[in-house]
Amino acid sequence: MIKSISTFDIKHKRVLIRADLNVPISDGVVQDDFRLRALLPTLNYCLKNNAKIVLMSHLGRPKGKIDKKLSLMPIGEVLADLLEMPIKFSHHCVSEDAFNVTLGLKSGEIHLLENLRFSNDEVENNKDFSSKLAKHGDVFINDAFGTAHREHASNVGIIDHFSNRGMGFLIENEIQYFYKLINKPKKPLIVILGGSKVDSKLSLIDRFLNVADRIIIGGGMVFTFLKAQGKNIGNSIYQENLVSAAFDILEKTKNTQKLVFPSDYICNTSFESKKKPVIYSKNEIKDGYMGLDIGPRSIKRFQSILNDAETIFWNGPMGVFENENYEEGTKSLASSIVEFTEKGSKSIIGGGDSASALRKYNLTKNVTHLSTGGGASLELLSGKTLPALQRLEI
Ligand code: AMP
Repeated sequence: MIKSISTFDIKHKRVLIRADLNVPISDGVVQDDFRLRALLPTLNYCLKNNAKIVLMSHLGRPKGKIDKKLSLMPIGEVLADLLEMPIKFSHHCVSEDAFNVTLGLKSGEIHLLENLRFSNDEVENNKDFSSKLAKHGDVFINDAFGTAHREHASNVGIIDHFSNRGMGFLIENEIQYFYKLINKPKKPLIVILGGSKVDSKLSLIDRFLNVADRIIIGGGMVFTFLKAQGKNIGNSIYQENLVSAAFDILEKTKNTQKLVFPSDYICNTSFESKKKPVIYSKNEIKDGYMGLDIGPRSIKRFQSILNDAETIFWNGPMGVFENENYEEGTKSLASSIVEFTEKGSKSIIGGGDSASALRKYNLTKNVTHLSTGGGASLELLSGKTLPALQRLEI
């Protein structure tokens, strides 16, 4: 059992929160605050209950070096604006100065520590580092769903130092949505998978085969399936080592309508080609060409399938949406998901690149649940154990 933050007496206590403040940032300006907003229920609860809050997080991949561009300071400022209160900041997470700031905290105050990954100790799950981090708190709360599939000092090593440990409302909320999605979704449930990596999604397809009514597959991952069907995929990306696993899934679903593949593709000779993209149907991608987005017929078909959905789960773009020539599939799908959500369907988005796509089209607030964790949500839904959650168990 993982205890909820709501079960602790946190009054006047130092609550050390592992948060996920890893938000997109450019030139010190936060591009999207959705992960920060998702943390507010936990922070507001601590404030209401007169706790002393110490926040720690990573940002990006500084690879163990101090990188000013990846400082958490500007993120602390946005958080301070959202909470309408000042936040104390320490430039080093385990320095004497940082410990003194924590010791001097008054109830209802917040202390934010600098990027945990400015030293390799965090990702190496260094014992000494986790024991030092633990000095910041009486109670440990993990509310960083986005890193729950990682085994790091601030979410796994640190657990040894706390009998008072639990999860915040953000993690509680994520688990509830995903538990319901896999165990008792409102049907019909339509799952849409895309993106380029097949390995992380095969076990997910397997898990959803008995739960979902239809599983739409798009993006680069589709070509591993087409290869398994013996189709010509030109130069499209595919994963050779997973062709047989894709074949097994095709065999399992042979006489069903469960898997839905695109019927046409937007193709070009390379990602960067200046040539006009061409549309090929699923059986005729020419040698020298690669599929970079789903085509207009596929978009229409996917939209009509979504029309029946009570629940929609989406993970992974339909094409190389970062390039405007190949974004139409992802963009149309995102708009359709929003449209059906407005009409009453529940939409759950698995974070990662699908979240980036929603952000690009300014739609992050228009879905039922946008997960704060891409990799973590995939692993949770695939039935894998997330180390940080497992260690939180009492
Ligand atoms: P993933 O991390 O597996 O969700 O993959 C996301 C990436 O897949 C995005 O950066 C897309 O550009 C890329 N992608 C989507 N469709 C294709 C495609 N047809 N060919 C190559 N890459 C793709």
